[in-house]
Amino acid sequence: MRILDSFPLRVRLTLIYGVWMALLLPALGWGLFTLVKRNLMQSVDAALSASAQAMIDSRASMNDSVMDELLSRLLGERHINTMARVVDLSGKVRTHGQHGNISLPMTSFASQRAEQGFSTFETFERKGKSPFRLLTVPLVFDGRFSGDVIQVGASLETTESALSEIGAVLWFAFPVGLIFSLGVSYYLTGGSLSPVVAIQTAASNLSATDLSTRLPLPKADDELRGLTRTFNGMLDRLQDTFGRLRRFSSDVSHELRTPLAAIRGEAELALRRTRSQEEYQETLKTIQRESVHMTRIVEDLLLLARAESQSVAYSPEFIESQDFFEKVSLAAKSFFQERNILLVVDNQIATQLYCAPGYLTQALLNILTNAAKHSSSNQSVTLKAISSKSWHHISITDTGEGIPADQVDKIFDPFYRVDSARNRKVGGAGIGLSLAMALVRLHQGDIKVTSEPTKGSTFTISIPANPAVNSKLLMEQKVKN
Ligand code: ADP
Repeated sequence: MRILDSFPLRVRLTLIYGVWMALLLPALGWGLFTLVKRNLMQSVDAALSASAQAMIDSRASMNDSVMDELLSRLLGERHINTMARVVDLSGKVRTHGQHGNISLPMTSFASQRAEQGFSTFETFERKGKSPFRLLTVPLVFDGRFSGDVIQVGASLETTESALSEIGAVLWFAFPVGLIFSLGVSYYLTGGSLSPVVAIQTAASNLSATDLSTRLPLPKADDELRGLTRTFNGMLDRLQDTFGRLRRFSSDVSHELRTPLAAIRGEAELALRRTRSQEEYQETLKTIQRESVHMTRIVEDLLLLARAESQSVAYSPEFIESQDFFEKVSLAAKSFFQERNILLVVDNQIATQLYCAPGYLTQALLNILTNAAKHSSSNQSVTLKAISSKSWHHISITDTGEGIPADQVDKIFDPFYRVDSARNRKVGGAGIGLSLAMALVRLHQGDIKVTSEPTKGSTFTISIPANPAVNSKLLMEQKVKN
């Protein structure tokens, strides 16, 4: 098999097929040869039986000429190779046809069987001549064995030559058949492997800049069609991922360029001439504000990348849910107060929470600040926590501007912002929700959104309630990856 491995697949398949053919063809040839031989022998035996019977029927008038005539009628004109005679059990010839004095022994086997009333077929090998087939039939009169037998025989020369001709044809047919079937196999294998070659060509033409090539599906609904489909599916995913990466890099550059331009502009303006102390302080404040904004973006991006690749230190613990939600509410308080929005916390979770408190707080604050940003003054935002089976659900509901249905799926993409006049005013960098999702997924959880424009939105975070579910989900996720 090692040697086979060094050949191309097409040659390997053809050779395997060839080995099968090399075993099958001789077996078929041998079967055919045996069948023909048996049929030929059966027809010789049938002719001998018919001759013997005809002679027994005309026994009363049997003499040399009758025997010869019967022989030529029954065994054909070439009766030079046939003989008929009547002998006793000791082998003494009583009467015979023209060629009946041929010297063939009366075997003890045939004479024993004759005494028992049975006929016997025997084949005698002769030196330098074709074998001879002999039928010995006991002559029975009035139900009693007369002591004589009638022997009818024929040379197997014709049978032998027919068989040797067939043998020669088979010997010739074997290599020709083998070569022909190898050729057909090589041709057909090439056709069957053409989709594989197409995949190979397409794969070698792919590049990171052009992942748009797709393979045409083979017509037959077989494994290769499945493989082609899988390959095309993989290209879809790769194209999607590369597209996201490209968009992500350009979004990052774009997002950082604005504060950088502001810092540079402020600095250049301040340096153009001597300024008052107040003016310098203003410039430095602007530079500080933009740097804080940039630092926030960079830190969020770093955490997002680490959370998505699961390379942050995630160490969940049991904490009192009441304490946890009080702390979250405290952290959001000033933001809500600045916007004159009421935060209502309704915690119905009776058990402890199993989470990494820092990461879950950050995810909740991102969603809470969004709810406040997209609500109007005097409106309220509700945080409701409930338990169901082995899950905890934390919903944050606002009655603000809502999200258009066609954009709900996109808001978790990094840098995605719903384009509305209000968003442009209040919006951040567009990383908040993608970071919240990555942090919740660290907990093996998920975030679902229901929203209606002008009526408001509900974001629901669901996380497993206990470590057993958590670690089972973690295992499943690892197996999937
Ligand atoms: P940003 O930092 O801009 O808030 P996010 O990733 O947090 O980015 O949110 C993405 C977009 O989703 C926002 O720009 C906003 O348009 C929309 N969005 C998020 N939360 C809400 C909400 N509660 N109501 C309406 N729109 C929202």
